[in-house]
Amino acid sequence: MMNEGYDVIIVGAGPAGLTSAIYAARSGLRTTVLERGIPGGLVAEAPLIENFPGFPEGISGMDLAERLARQAKGMGAEIRDLEEVIELDLEAGEKQARTHKAVYAAPTLIIASGSHYRTLGVPGEQEFRGRGVSYCAVCDGAFFKGKRVVVVGGGNSAAVTALYLSNLASGVMLVHRRGQLRAEEALVEDLQRRKVGLLLNKVVKEIIGDTRVEGVVLLENETGETSELGIDGVFVQIGEVPNSQVAREAGVEVDKDGYIIVDVRQRTNVRGVYAAGDVTLGPVKQVGTSVGQGIIAANEAFGYVKRPYYYKA
Ligand SMILES: Cc1cc2nc3c(=O)[nH]c(=O)nc-3n(C[C@H](O)[C@H](O)[C@H](O)COP(=O)(O)OP(=O)(O)OC[C@H]3O[C@@H](n4cnc5c(N)ncnc54)[C@H](O)[C@@H]3O)c2cc1C
Repeated sequence: MMNEGYDVIIVGAGPAGLTSAIYAARSGLRTTVLERGIPGGLVAEAPLIENFPGFPEGISGMDLAERLARQAKGMGAEIRDLEEVIELDLEAGEKQARTHKAVYAAPTLIIASGSHYRTLGVPGEQEFRGRGVSYCAVCDGAFFKGKRVVVVGGGNSAAVTALYLSNLASGVMLVHRRGQLRAEEALVEDLQRRKVGLLLNKVVKEIIGDTRVEGVVLLENETGETSELGIDGVFVQIGEVPNSQVAREAGVEVDKDGYIIVDVRQRTNVRGVYAAGDVTLGPVKQVGTSVGQGIIAANEAFGYVKRPYYYKA
């Protein structure tokens, strides 16, 4: 089925996509948002957001997501849940987005598909996801009060996660495949102060347990020896991957890590196609920056469709 009559299609209903929808619909563009899950994006996983301006007492991620979606709908944007964009065709004048239900067409398209956590890809990881395996300490840390956990990774997010968990868990160990952490010096010093154990030159080869995580099998890089470590939780912090595959396959340029390349007007290399939020190469990946980029993208889409006198193509 072909759904036409839109001015802008937005891929992803996280903070970037929903903000684009608010601005696009409010400026009079016929706007549809295609979301593979439910509206909210990653922010919905944050128990409390304390740094989004205008909420001095903080706001739960779920609450913020719900408000953004309500505001976008209130402005007249359509939000289509459970519609994953599986293919884009950006060659014709009208950009097309295909989902399992229909094909949507519009002269402009905003990609706001965010990112996802990189996984270890070892046995047990999928099986115990949500039963001891987590990618988000802020979301799940409280379940590990008084328990023993390992954090996998060597960068800043792994260090921050380990420090956060050291307030809750009875023991925290950081497993890193290299001999030295990549995290900032100040964080490494904090790790020492908080007595976070370092297991360097080791990789997690397997996550084991019965109904929940009970331990990990560690492989020593240099010797090839394996050992078992009994723990209750594994927090994987080895980076994020942008959800840019569909865009990339349609000819949108990405950097070496897969982030969509945009200019200061959120324009990609394809005319009429914009990108905003965590899927782009922007240096700060936060709600505030996603919101700002979403505004710029919507404004550009408006200019592209309506061609006001001040618009510079
Ligand atoms: C636990 C946690 C705590 C955080 N705390 C804070 C904080 O305190 N302050 C802060 O500013 N930021 C915080 N962040 C970061 C913030 O959530 C992100 O920067 C923000 O959500 C990025 O918004 P986005 O719209 O670019 O992407 P996302 O929020 O990731 O949204 C992208 C959306 O696109 C959808 N999507 C992807 N591919 C497709 C497809 N092919 N078709 C259709 N839909 C698709 C996804 O399902 C998703 O809903 C936190 C993140 C996490 C995980």
